[in-house]
Amino acid sequence: MASRALACQTLHELRDLIQQDPTAAEHLLEELLDRIAQLNGRLHAYLAEPDRKRLRQQVREQLKACPNGKLRGIPITVKDNICIQGEETTCASRILQGFRSPYDATVIERLRREGAVLMPRANMDEFAFGSSTENSAFGPTRNPWATDRVPGGSSGGSAAAVAADLAIGALGSDTGGSIRQPASFCGIVGMKPTYGRVSRYGLVAFASSLDQIGPLTKDVTDAAILLSVIAGHDARDSTSAPVEVPDYVSQLNTSVKGLRIGLPKLPEEGLDHEVNDSLAEAVKAFERLGCQTTSVELRQIDKAIATYYIIATAEASSNLARYDGVQYGYRAVGSGLGVEGSGQAQSPEPRTQNALLDMYLTTRTSGFGDEPKRRILLGTYVLSHGYYDAYYLKGMKVRTLIKQDFDEAFKRCDLVVMPTAPSPAFRLGEKIDDPLQMYLSDIYTISANLAGVPAVSIPCGLSKAGLPIGMQLLTAPFREDLLLRAAYAYEQATDWHRRQPGL
Ligand code: GLN
Repeated sequence: MASRALACQTLHELRDLIQQDPTAAEHLLEELLDRIAQLNGRLHAYLAEPDRKRLRQQVREQLKACPNGKLRGIPITVKDNICIQGEETTCASRILQGFRSPYDATVIERLRREGAVLMPRANMDEFAFGSSTENSAFGPTRNPWATDRVPGGSSGGSAAAVAADLAIGALGSDTGGSIRQPASFCGIVGMKPTYGRVSRYGLVAFASSLDQIGPLTKDVTDAAILLSVIAGHDARDSTSAPVEVPDYVSQLNTSVKGLRIGLPKLPEEGLDHEVNDSLAEAVKAFERLGCQTTSVELRQIDKAIATYYIIATAEASSNLARYDGVQYGYRAVGSGLGVEGSGQAQSPEPRTQNALLDMYLTTRTSGFGDEPKRRILLGTYVLSHGYYDAYYLKGMKVRTLIKQDFDEAFKRCDLVVMPTAPSPAFRLGEKIDDPLQMYLSDIYTISANLAGVPAVSIPCGLSKAGLPIGMQLLTAPFREDLLLRAAYAYEQATDWHRRQPGL
């Protein structure tokens, strides 16, 4: 029998293999490059052609430089909003086309230090605005399980790459569900850590009070390994928390007997019955593992989407103000300032103030896609004089109530269990013209970001149409260890994580 392809194996299996035989890392890269050449045209998980020569060199260098690295020789892909020195970082937006990052994000430094091989760069919704990756300015990613379906978003490229064995693991970012929802649509594990657990230095900001970087992986052990590499305090991100990082991997096997699982009553609008059934089965599996279930109240959860779309758009409109055609990337052709087209912006000498304003206007008009423009409009409106109290301030108050709901719930239980998304992956084009329907895809994920609590999505079923279904576990701040332990116990008792898309 032919031995199992390296590209299809997990990070922890490959780490052990490479430890015994470092040349396995070179074979692994070649397999991945072949698969990318074969499949990326169809899936569009990667935004750029891999630079084979430089990747081969990276493998050789990392094998030598990090003999004991936790990720030695392992290819990890990175969402296009995380800065890698010298690489283009576009957030899948025209307005950043041609921008090359002058420095490494902290998470990238940490991956490098452990011997990872960085595979730039995974497709995403423009500036991480979206739930389907259809908002990428460079074309959508397709779901490896059914290529007429979306992979979820906004980290859809990261999720599709891992699910299709085009990368061994990935980093994504999650502001309202962007790691967990694509993980659930693509049948893999995706975790949003506690706000403050992972440094966001070098992550292009969307909504600074909600954004977190996290891992997307083939199983829970891999998530524990990647999280242990990227977690921890960083003086360069003032929101990063000086909280000790436990050894996630060695605790995975600790029994979950006696853990209290909280089941909230959720808004059922749009909840697919297959998702509901899979979740009910998963809860039974936890009971068989010795967990107790109890009902908990998350009373304000039905207000989470409205609250999120006030706070997130307010912060996004402010964060997007910096894309002016001067500092980064793209400048509109014909903007009257003599520096045209895409590429690194140069300092212009504005002839008149009008020419400068004209340049801002034409650059932003042609550089941003529809969704960033919609968010800028919404965000500017909710922050504007006279509306601030009615919207933003009120949104912040409801956010506090949502957080209090979780504080109360976690007095009564150790974990909350709920669906990750109301349905399995939807079809490309199905929701793109209806922003409200699209926003509802995040109904179950958004409150974790508003409350700052950690949450993980793991595979818990397949629909009749053969599409993955995800379950979400949430817990109290900085208890990722507990999330991973419970997810691991469930994974050991089931085999959903072993199902593969029939590409
Ligand atoms: N889908 C949500 C949005 O469009 C969340 C995106 C995210 O988490 N980056 O804002």
